[in-house]
Amino acid sequence: MITIKNKQECCGCFACKEICPLKCIDMQADEEGFFYPSVNANKCIECGLCTKACPVLNQSPPQKPIKTYVIINSNTEVKEQSSSGGAFSLLAEKIINDNGIVYGAKFDNQWNVIHDCTSNIEELYKFRSSKYVQSSINNTFSQTETILKNGKKVLFSGTPCQIAGLKKYLRKDYPQLYTVDFICHGVPSPLVWRSYLNETLAVYKINSDDIININFRDKSLGWKKFSFALQFNKKGQKKKITEVFYRNYYIRGFLHDIYLRPSCYSCPSKAGKSNSDITIADFWGIQYIYPELNDDKGASLMLINSSKGEALCRELNSHFKEVEYQTIFQYNKSIEQSTILPVDKRKRFFKGFGQKKVSSLVIELTNFPLSERIKEKIKKIISW
Ligand SMILES: Cc1cc2nc3c(=O)[nH]c(=O)nc-3n(C[C@H](O)[C@H](O)[C@H](O)COP(=O)(O)OP(=O)(O)OC[C@H]3O[C@@H](n4cnc5c(N)ncnc54)[C@H](O)[C@@H]3O)c2cc1C
Ligand code: SF4
Ligand code: SF4
Ligand code: SF4
Repeated sequence: MITIKNKQECCGCFACKEICPLKCIDMQADEEGFFYPSVNANKCIECGLCTKACPVLNQSPPQKPIKTYVIINSNTEVKEQSSSGGAFSLLAEKIINDNGIVYGAKFDNQWNVIHDCTSNIEELYKFRSSKYVQSSINNTFSQTETILKNGKKVLFSGTPCQIAGLKKYLRKDYPQLYTVDFICHGVPSPLVWRSYLNETLAVYKINSDDIININFRDKSLGWKKFSFALQFNKKGQKKKITEVFYRNYYIRGFLHDIYLRPSCYSCPSKAGKSNSDITIADFWGIQYIYPELNDDKGASLMLINSSKGEALCRELNSHFKEVEYQTIFQYNKSIEQSTILPVDKRKRFFKGFGQKKVSSLVIELTNFPLSERIKEKIKKIISW
């Protein structure tokens, strides 16, 4: 049976919970807000399925992609709503047009991040754009298995460890399953996100029903200077707050790595270990590699990891440019390297978490310049 001795050794993929024939595994959040399995030992029959399905205990070897492409979605509205160049939407539309189902991460009605599916192109906007929170995968692995057994195509998108977990859970390769992950920096705790959101709602004196949209990768100030954007209704008026990534407290804490999941500091699934068919990412370094494509509106990388991924990619109605893996690696080290654990800062963050505001802790721990803090305060006072 599965036992977690060291939190770095569980990425929270839910594969063990999903596969247990006796349903005796519960996923429980710890004080940081990350979910871990807890086994009811009285019910467990020691069948060993949970340990076999665990992508951390059963890691695949790393592999380099077969090909690496740059791709930009020609639909400007879709690209605008996407984090990078809109590669995910091209793949998702293709699968839906083939009568398939697409899984990915979206917000629920309380602005928590969850995994869900759609078979409707009009609903894809909910899945677009990166949400910098660990998504709750729930029972999407078993749902996917049922759909695959019925012969339908499925595109499952998620973090590399979610894809690795899905593959271990399924235990066999389905020709009609396409898996897409992304180059992954790591995922913050859902509880830290909830606390930050509640603090923000209190600042603007609104509640979550007033929110119209949240975007972690708003491009209105440019793709490279992406922003956190919050749109809401207040007293019958629509408002939008846009904060560039280094000024937004939550994104700043995320990029300083102070509240990522422990497993993200020694990732079990990056560098091609997830066995996904395709890996998508931001094409950082575009200005040096393909300056003619550099319009600051977003460009995607597509790393092709399997012949199935290559065949799907060839069927897309879009323009590709090949690019050398070693060249893009220089600008996106997270392809292979895990984020370095800032031991002291992470400890201090979680020591203060629950007592102090997330924003106060981020200010304390990330050297938020005084001038920036004053500007932020003034901006908030002026807008209300
Ligand atoms: C937590 C996180 C860390 C990332 N780190 C990097 C990085 O270090 N370097 C890099 O180049 N790219 C990183 N990315 C990927 C990048 O931000 C884009 O998501 C990717 O380039 C795809 O962009 P797109 O324009 O093709 O499509 P988009 O429309 O932006 O695609 C969004 C896709 O991401 C999925 N997704 C969004 N949020 C989550 C989530 N919380 N959990 C699981 N799946 C999610 C959606 O289901 C959808 O498939 C990260 C993404 C996330 C969510
Ligand atoms: S060993 Fe079998 S019964 Fe026990 S928790 Fe794991 S999957 Fe469930
Ligand atoms: S990594 Fe996944 S399968 Fe392994 S213990 Fe954690 S939740 Fe279970
Ligand atoms: S960094 Fe690794 S462990 Fe963390 S969410 Fe990404 S794939 Fe999972």
